[in-house]
Order: sequence, then structure tokens, then C-alpha cells
Amino acid sequence: MSEKALKVIKTLQHHNFKAYFVGGCIRDLLLGKKPKDFDVSTDATPEKVRSLFQNSRIIGRRFKIVHVVFGNEIIEVTTFRSNKAEAVVAKQKIGKNSTRVSDKSGMLLRDNVYGKNIVEDSLRRDFTINALYLDPIKQEIYDYNGGLYDMHEKVIDIIGDPETRYSEDPVRMIRALRFSAKLGFKISKRSSDPIKKLSSKLLEVSNARMFEEVNKLFITGHGLASFKKLLDYHIFELLFPATQHLITQSNFTNFIEYALNSSDKRYQNNQPNMPHFLYSVILWNVFYEKYFIYTEKMNTFVSSINETNLVNSILDGIFEAQEKITAMPFIVSNSIRSLWKTQIALEQCDRSNLQQVESIKGKAIFRAAYDFLTLRARFDPFLKDSVDFWTPFYEKSKALSIKRRIEREQQKKTSKKKGKKKFTDGFAGEEKFSRKRKKALEKARAWRASMDLDI
Ligand code: ATP
Ligand code: MG
Repeated sequence: MSEKALKVIKTLQHHNFKAYFVGGCIRDLLLGKKPKDFDVSTDATPEKVRSLFQNSRIIGRRFKIVHVVFGNEIIEVTTFRSNKAEAVVAKQKIGKNSTRVSDKSGMLLRDNVYGKNIVEDSLRRDFTINALYLDPIKQEIYDYNGGLYDMHEKVIDIIGDPETRYSEDPVRMIRALRFSAKLGFKISKRSSDPIKKLSSKLLEVSNARMFEEVNKLFITGHGLASFKKLLDYHIFELLFPATQHLITQSNFTNFIEYALNSSDKRYQNNQPNMPHFLYSVILWNVFYEKYFIYTEKMNTFVSSINETNLVNSILDGIFEAQEKITAMPFIVSNSIRSLWKTQIALEQCDRSNLQQVESIKGKAIFRAAYDFLTLRARFDPFLKDSVDFWTPFYEKSKALSIKRRIEREQQKKTSKKKGKKKFTDGFAGEEKFSRKRKKALEKARAWRASMDLDI
């Protein structure tokens, strides 16, 4: 159990507040898995929690929560909430910042009505297995919704009336699929039946939140299982509408399945997975197909259009459509653009033109692009020739990067010994680089981390 989280509980209880571990951490502990994080539930208000911990901040609008920060460990502290219908009318009594507001379709826009106790708090949680509370001091577990029974039966069951709870927050539908994929549990019939009917409500969820939820589905070790569940429930095509006509093609699904299987293995080996990787894999065939169709059209009808402009306009179209559903941070979409453009360059490079070859292998994204090309080549035999051509350049670039890393580490050690200023984890004098160069470096590092698939 996290020492830091225990400290948070002890401090809250010391100040006469109730405080428990709740949710995923107990579920995972009971399953013998290592919890990803420890969430704390308390009757102290966010403002009170904030005042008790110097190292804390209040975040969230829809749900006000407090993050207590210990280095790179963050303990999330939430105040008991209530899911009672009467809570809607409590708006005036509780004040401006503590309201429960829903829109016409029943979707909750804000949910900050505080609950009196864990019984109330447990009822507004999503699934029974996520509504277990643990008092680590008394060493007692509290279960008001049959969560322990469902753990034993390996069932995901939504708390309350499924249609109401999914309408309040449609994200719960993909959370059901996520936990089923992650834990290998069945979704109870009553929880699964309304999903197909209500799944289009997912389109009402903010695109920023959807981006986070989609990442959790795919890049935290159970991506392949999540992909299969999403296909079963016809939700994949809702999340990635541009792929709708491709999902029946085995070369499309095989490519994604292979890539997700690799990233699941990376996660199990404590290697990071980045969203760039996910989106570049899922949407690659959409881009490639459009690229072929448009270049063919261009060659036939409008030979005057510049190829770069054409590729950019295809990319703009794809991202504009996808971002309506999942808002991607600029660094993510920009990295995908560079990666895909480099695929075209790797394939179409005039190999006898040394200048062209030099410029491609000198790109910060070259190694990541090569990794992606080899991944594609597993499903496209015509790419073997390109892979063979670029392999020696890739090997050389990799060897050089390993050599540089070793040199940097040695430099770090010697400067530590000499008591010099702490070395930044990068090139000597990197702090003096221009903003543009720093950005390019950051991007290249993110890519290397995400794309070095070790396959
Ligand atoms: P993971 O291990 O994947 O983080 P988790 O159960 O901890 O799983 P979180 O997203 O961290 O999931 O949420 C913490 C807890 O908050 C959940 O266990 C659940 O009790 C509650 N919760 C989260 N999202 C919702 C939601 N949309 N509706 C109701 N309760 C939710
Ligand atoms: Mg969690």
C-alpha cells in the first residue's frame, strides 16, 4: 500500500475527518494486482483538504478534487458526493460551487453535491467493484452495493438504473468495456443491454475528456482486449468514424491488433506508450487510402497541385474530423503528421539522390518512422524493399544514439564527481537551444519512447 496515501488518510483522520481508500486501488489489491494509483474519499471539503496539505491543489470543474503531490506520486482526494435526485434542488442551499446540474438529456454537467457518508458516496460511483471502501487504520472494508460478491463472480455491474446512469455520464459505457477488458470480467446483462442503444450519447461528451478516456482504453496494457470489445459493441466506429468502411477488412484489423499487442507488452515491461502511437496506427490506413485516391486523381486531372499541399490537406481533413471526437494536444497531432509524411518520403525517396537520402535520415523522426515502416511491412510485402534500403541507415543512427547516451551518462558521472552543475538529460548546452530546436528535440524523444517497439 502506498505510504504517501496512508499518510494522507492518517492526517485526515487525525483532524477528525473520515477518510478511506476507495475505488480501483481496493479492487486491484483484492485481485492481487498492483494498483495504478490510490484514491482517497473523505468528508472534508476540497478547501479543507487543500488547507491541510501544503503540497496540494484543487482541480476539476465538473468534479472538484484535490491532488496531494508527493514528488511524482499524486494522491487524489475526493469529498463524499451524493447521487440523490433531491440533490438537484439542493443547489441554492449548498451554494454556487456545490451544484449538481444536468442537461436536457440527463447528462450531468457538474456534480458537486456533497454526500453525508460513504453510503451516499458509494451510490454515485460507477460499478459495484469500484465502490469498495477501506479504512486502513481499522483494517475494515465497507461494501454497500455487492461489490465483493461481483468481484468473486467476476462481473462488472453498474450501480443503479443502467439507462439513467449511462445517460448521466455516457463515459461509463466505455468504462464498462475498459474494466471488462482490463480485468477479464463479464459485463452483467442489465449493464450491457442498454449500451448498444445509448452508445451514440458518447458523441455528446467533451472531446478533451474523450481523448483521456480513449487513451486509458488503449495504452494501459489492455489495448488489444479493449479494441475487440469496442468492435463487439460497435463503439470503435463511433470513436473513429473515418475507419468505418475499413473495420471489416482483415488487413486493417490485423495491423491494429498486432500494434496493440506490442504496446500491451511494452506496458507490461514498464515501458511507456504514447497517444501518438495509438492514433498513428489506428488512422494510418485512412490516410494511406486517401493519399492513393487523391494522388491518382491528381495525376489524371490536375497535375498542377503541389504534392505537399495535397498531403497537408488530406491530413487537415483527417484531424479536423477526428478532433471533433477526441481532442488531441498539438504535440500529438503534429507528431503523427510528421510520421506519416516521413512514411511517404521513405517509400518514394529517389535512392540515387544522396542529398534526399541524407535529408531523410537526418530527420529527428527518422528512427521512429523506420520502426513504423517495419510494422507496416509485416502486413505489406511490397514494403520489404524500402525496409531493406533504410535498415543500414537506421542501425547506424541507433548505434550513434547509444554511443551518445553512454557519453552523456559518463559526462554526468564525472561532472557529479567534480561537483559541477547538474547535467540536463540531453545534449551539452541544451538549455541554450532555441525554442524551436528544444521543441523538435522533445518531439523526437517522445517519438523514440513511443515507437521503439522492440519487435
Ligand atoms: P484505474 O485503475 O483504471 O485507474 P479506477 O477504478 O481507479 O481504475 P479511475 O478513473 O481512477 O478508475 O476512477 C476512480 C474511481 O472513481 C472509480 O473507481 C469509481 O469509483 C469513480 N469513478 C470514476 N469515473 C466515474 C464515473 N464516470 N462515474 C462514476 N464514478 C466514477
Ligand atoms: Mg484510478
